[in-house]
Amino acid sequence: ILSAQGISRHFGSITALSPSDLDVAPGEVVVLIGPSGSGKSTLLRCLNLLEPPDSGEIRFRDQCITEQGVNLDQVRRSIGMVFQQFNLYPHMTALGNVTLALRRVHRLSREDARTRGMAALEEVGLAKQHDAHPGNLSGGQQQRVGIARALALDPDIMLFDEPTSALDPELVGEVLSVMRRLRDRKMTMVIVTHEMGFARDVADRVVFMNEGAIIEQGPPETLFTAPTQPRTREFLSRLM
Ligand code: ATP
Ligand code: MG
Repeated sequence: ILSAQGISRHFGSITALSPSDLDVAPGEVVVLIGPSGSGKSTLLRCLNLLEPPDSGEIRFRDQCITEQGVNLDQVRRSIGMVFQQFNLYPHMTALGNVTLALRRVHRLSREDARTRGMAALEEVGLAKQHDAHPGNLSGGQQQRVGIARALALDPDIMLFDEPTSALDPELVGEVLSVMRRLRDRKMTMVIVTHEMGFARDVADRVVFMNEGAIIEQGPPETLFTAPTQPRTREFLSRLM
């Protein structure tokens, strides 16, 4: 469904991402792991063109999205993204946050946006809280609103960049279980996370990055128990 070939990204003299390939199949769950600064976020952000790659090309479904003249709103609607910081508007309700892009960017009527927004809140278990403002929701609930905001656009693939890293430990579980439910209904996902138990559990494939490069990848049972690359072994042993 998504295929990146030779994509790279530099910031001045820093190589955040060396030319890398990543293919994601429909319904597949890919988890990116690696030390801080290894380029996980950069790779993820390149995939939906939040960070345009310096080289290479990305095909999404039947389209080359790194070509000139591609409709970025359409790309970001189809490739949803959830960040570590929820970035909700504090003065708007949960439903208001979820429907904002549907109304402003995609020009849905108030009623259609509401229907889609409520369905998305339902999916993350927050239909009852649709009228609450972010300040009255827990961090875990706010992140679930963030997920609903992406889901409301009816994406074909969801990208998650450390969605639980800003949460108190007791709130992590509810967000992970929403993501497990998405996996169960075959949502294609690329997830950056430090939650190794979760990675082992949901990933079809784990990708280890180091210094801006993909070092090794494979099914979790192989990568976690029998990594072939010294850098992967070193990284995993530091976590145990
Ligand atoms: P973390 O686990 O800390 O989130 P990461 O694996 O997501 O790290 P990236 O954020 O992709 O790593 O960063 C890769 C490299 O690129 C780092 O050296 C970082 O400092 C650099 N970098 C990332 N974004 C920018 C930017 N906007 N401007 C300058 N340098 C950047
Ligand atoms: Mg990051």
